Amino acid sequence: MVLRRALLAAARGRGVQKLASTMPVSSTIVSRFVAGETADEAIEVARQLLDEGIQVTIDHLGEHTEDREGAESATRAYLDLLDRLSRAGVARSCEVSLKLSALGRDLRPDGEKLALENTRTIALAARNAGTAISIDMEDYTTVDSTLSVVQELRRDFPETGAVLQAYLRRTEGDCRDLAYQGSRVRLCKGAYAAPESVAFRRRSEIDLSYVRCLKILMAGQGYPMVATHDPRLIEIASALAMRYDRSPGSYEFQMLYGVRPEEQRRLVSLGDTVRVYLPYGDQWYAYLMRRLAERPAYVGFFLRSLVTR
Ligand code: FAD
Repeated sequence: MVLRRALLAAARGRGVQKLASTMPVSSTIVSRFVAGETADEAIEVARQLLDEGIQVTIDHLGEHTEDREGAESATRAYLDLLDRLSRAGVARSCEVSLKLSALGRDLRPDGEKLALENTRTIALAARNAGTAISIDMEDYTTVDSTLSVVQELRRDFPETGAVLQAYLRRTEGDCRDLAYQGSRVRLCKGAYAAPESVAFRRRSEIDLSYVRCLKILMAGQGYPMVATHDPRLIEIASALAMRYDRSPGSYEFQMLYGVRPEEQRRLVSLGDTVRVYLPYGDQWYAYLMRRLAERPAYVGFFLRSLVTR
C-alpha cells in the first residue's frame, strides 16, 4: 500500500520522470506496456491483435498539458492517428481513447471548453473514419467535469464511450445514470490516488463495489465494457451477462496491452468480444508508474532498466 502510494505520487512528480525521460520505448519494461513511439508502430501492433480476433482502443500517451500549443499538438496527433487508421483499413475495429487533461482541460481560464472543442474535433474525425472515441477517467477531482463533457459530446456523438471507476463511492449512482440505451460505459477499478472520503481503499471493498456497478450496467440498456484483468470479476461478469440474457456482442471485455494476453485469447475463443487498450508515444512515464503501482513486482525491472540503459 505504501509503495503503491509512492508510485502514484511519482506519476505526478518530476524527479524520476526526468531520469526516465531518456529511456527509449524499446527498453524492455516500457515496451511490455507501450506499443511504440509512433502511430505506425501502434497500428502495426493493432494489426497483430486484430489478426487474433482482438479489437483495440488506441491511446496517444500524454496528460496534464501545460499550454495551448501542447493541447493542439495532442489533438493533431489524434487526427493523424485516425487518418492513418482509416488509410490502413482498420479503423472500424480500432477506436481511440483520450484524456481531457491532454487536450487542455487544466488550462486557465477556459480549459474545459478548450478540451471539449478539441475532443469534438477528434470525435468528428473518428466518426468519419468509421469509429468512435472513449474518454478516459482521470483523478477523482475531475469526474464531474469529465462526465459533463461526455454528456455534452453525446448530444452529437452518442457513440462516445464513458469510463467509471469502481473505487469511487459515487460510482454506483453514476452507473445508474449512464445505463441507458446506446450508452457505452467502461467500468474499471480506478488507477489514481484518492482519499478515503471519496474512495474505497481495501481491495475487497473495491471488488464488491465493482460487482454492484457491473450488476447495474449488465441489467441496464447500455453497452458495458468490462475493463479488468481480475479472474474473479471476469467470471462474475460472464455469469451476470448470462443472467441478464446478454448475447456476446452486447458487452465486451477490455484489458491493457501487455497484461494477461493468454486470457484475452481465451475469452476470444469462447466467443466474447475483447478489446485491448493500446498506448503509444514517448510520454509513457505516468502511464507506466500507474502500471507499476498495480503490480509492484515490476518495480525491480524498472529500476534496473534505469541504471543499465
Ligand atoms: P487488480 O486488482 O490490479 O488485479 C486483480 C487480479 O488480476 C490480480 O490479482 C491478478 O490475478 C490479475 N492481474 C492483474 N494484473 C496482472 C498482470 N499484470 N499479470 C497477471 N495477472 C494480473 N483506470 C482509470 O482510472 N481510468 C481509466 O480510464 C482506465 N482505463 C482503463 C482501460 C482498460 C481497458 C483497463 C483494463 C484498465 C483501465 N484503467 C483505468 C486501469 C484500472 O482502473 C486498473 O487500475 C487496472 O486495470 C488494474 O485493475 P484490475 O481490475 O486489473 O485489478
